[in-house]
Amino acid sequence: MPTYRYEAAESGKGCAFCSGGFETVHPIAGPRVERCPECGAPVVRAVCAPNIGRSRTDLDYRAKRAGFSKLRRLGKGEYEKEY
Ligand SMILES: [Zn+2]
Repeated sequence: MPTYRYEAAESGKGCAFCSGGFETVHPIAGPRVERCPECGAPVVRAVCAPNIGRSRTDLDYRAKRAGFSKLRRLGKGEYEKEY
C-alpha cells in the first residue's frame, strides 16, 4: 500500500502530531484520511509524492512518541539516529 502524507488543513491548528504533517498508509482506492487520528482536526493530503519530503521533525516526533531513539554509527565519529 502506498504511503500518503497528510497535514493539518489549517496551519496553526491541530496537535503536535498533525500540525507538522504525518504519514499514513492506506489503499489507493481506500478512504482518504479526513481527520487527525490524534486530535480530530481536519487534515488534507499533501501534494508531495509518497516517500518524498519526509520531514525530520516528523520522524523525531514519532521516535519520541515510541519512547526510544537509537544511534547508528555511520563512520568515524559520525552517528545518526536510527528508528
Ligand atoms: Zn492532530
